[in-house]
Amino acid sequence: MLHKLLVRFTLLLLLVSNTAIATDNAAARMKYTSVNITPNSVTEATATEKNVAERILYIAEDHTMLPADIAKEAEQLLQLSKQKNWLKNEVMAAAAKASMLSYMEDIPEALSLINRYLPIAQTNHYKSTEIRLRLAYLTASDAMGQSDEALQQIQHLLDLIPTISDQTQIGRVYLSIAEYQYAQRDFGESLTYMQKAYQLFAASDHKVKLSDTLNALANLYNALGDRQSAISYYQQALAMKQELKDDYSTAVIAYNLGTTYSQDRQFDLAKQTLALTIELTEKTKDDVGTALAQMGIAGIALKQGKTAKAIELFSIAKSSFEQIGVARGCFQATLGLHDAFYQTQQYQRAREQLEDLQQLAQQLDLDDFYAKVSKREADNAAIKGDFEQAYIKLLSFHEQTVDKYEQEKQGNIQQLKVRFDTEIAQQQNQLLQKQNQVKQLQIEQQSNQRLVLILAVLVGGIMLFYQFRNRQFYRNLAMKDSLTSAANRRAIISSGKQKCACETNSTTVVLVDLDNFKSINDTYGHDTGDEVLIAFAHACRQTMRKHDEFGRYGGEEWLLLLDRASEQDVIAVMRRIHNTLNKQALNGYPKDKVINFSCGVAVNPAHESHRLDTLINLADERLYQAKQSGRNAIGLTDQVVKIYQS
Ligand code: GH3
Ligand code: MG
Ligand code: MG
Repeated sequence: MLHKLLVRFTLLLLLVSNTAIATDNAAARMKYTSVNITPNSVTEATATEKNVAERILYIAEDHTMLPADIAKEAEQLLQLSKQKNWLKNEVMAAAAKASMLSYMEDIPEALSLINRYLPIAQTNHYKSTEIRLRLAYLTASDAMGQSDEALQQIQHLLDLIPTISDQTQIGRVYLSIAEYQYAQRDFGESLTYMQKAYQLFAASDHKVKLSDTLNALANLYNALGDRQSAISYYQQALAMKQELKDDYSTAVIAYNLGTTYSQDRQFDLAKQTLALTIELTEKTKDDVGTALAQMGIAGIALKQGKTAKAIELFSIAKSSFEQIGVARGCFQATLGLHDAFYQTQQYQRAREQLEDLQQLAQQLDLDDFYAKVSKREADNAAIKGDFEQAYIKLLSFHEQTVDKYEQEKQGNIQQLKVRFDTEIAQQQNQLLQKQNQVKQLQIEQQSNQRLVLILAVLVGGIMLFYQFRNRQFYRNLAMKDSLTSAANRRAIISSGKQKCACETNSTTVVLVDLDNFKSINDTYGHDTGDEVLIAFAHACRQTMRKHDEFGRYGGEEWLLLLDRASEQDVIAVMRRIHNTLNKQALNGYPKDKVINFSCGVAVNPAHESHRLDTLINLADERLYQAKQSGRNAIGLTDQVVKIYQS
């Protein structure tokens, strides 16, 4: 029913707005075609202001390059433009780099670029660059969980729309907003923006963005429980990505499609599609993707009663996830293993998996996971004949689920329905008014073709959603930083939030940034830079107290959380870390050259609970003062103290 409403709504909306699309179409198409040439990478010798600008636009758009490579090249182009005094290019390159950094969740670096360049873009009226910077800001705020900031950015972006003529860029803004709303589970808002984006990309025939939008729509429909539509949208998105020869995105969508087939019990199609995913992820060396797809195939084997096969594949997936450090994936693979053992009455083995599950659930600390564990604990107790225990566990299973999800979903659907009913009524009124225009439109051949195309797309099926959210979800939930094995940003922020909320203990937040790290990289190479980072983590591990925590906050920035530590304590801790760090022999780094760092300190006293981000901002200001004082220093409440005294 809902599905039908949505389809009708989509159709009406598209019919009505087609008039606008037709007018802008020619211009938009031209614009896209002119960006679509492939400018070669530029060297210092061949660089002109124009070809550098083209190259920046190209890499910012390119979907086949890896994000890290785009960020790297953007940095080179930024430096080059700076040298040559090409301000506009410099700001454009900064925006390209910032958006990649926020996508990769290197938030501090992204924010520092955005803060530096956004005012320049504004003063000089570089509108489209300003938009790119703000989109990066939106992604960063989303990653930081700062919804006020995010909403503010959305407002800025919407305000900017009337000043933009590039339809594709407007579409990009809408799609980003839609994705943000989707993540917030505001499906109604999300759908509205997604449809706006869809129309604009369809009008300019922008296949890359169109396929992203179809994927996003499919995810949304999946979330709303409309699997048929989801499948159809994934199929269309998949075909487009294949045509674009974008292996990474094709794999992501194939994974989405495969798992949806599997939920729909179309097992043969599911297996084929997941096999395609593995083929592609192996090609792109995307280990998370491979493990996910293996787990998908294992799940099908289990549903089909092929338990030996399921056990084999779940084990492979589990150990891959362990290796990569993706706790959530690990949980799901372990769950699969448990169920496979349980089904084949290998209860002892099932129990071993259950222990892993209990640990992982604690680590992930989400209701959903506890619920899944409780359910299996109940089964386990029943097997042992301990029915009282089984009953207790089942009770807690029901408490943890309480069909919370279902209720939320129903609530959302109800909201959506009301909304769409009203909007459809409005649209129908407008439709009558626009009847003449629509008739005229249908006579024009080009528009007519478009209409047929859009109708075919819609009739051919309805849509599906998850940009790269599925994947990012897993990456985000990985708790360990892969280089240094320290807690990653997400993990340390989550600890920090918990600690700051605790009223009985004081928590001291220390933000550390290595000094002149760029020149370490430049002089001794990036690998040596990496060694330094590993050594820093090692020094923290060796010197910090058991209850204290640290994590990699960004590139070479660290966040330390110390329990009940005064400013004097911090000075002692930092000196110990400095000492231990510099005692280590590092590959490629001269023994006699001291590695320094600076930090800023903010204390959250007991009986006060400040927000973690407030404390981090304060620590950041003090870090800045420490750097200003000549580095190798600690910024405290009202003084700056040197760390290392030679
Ligand atoms: P400052 O003393 O002002 O902090 O100077 P800095 O050179 O350290 O400046 P900044 O903090 O801006 O530089 C951070 C550098 O860290 C830039 C980036 O190339 C490098 N970096 C970030 N992540 C990594 C990494 O994983 N490995 C290596 N080798 N370098 C990294
Ligand atoms: Mg830094
Ligand atoms: Mg630094």
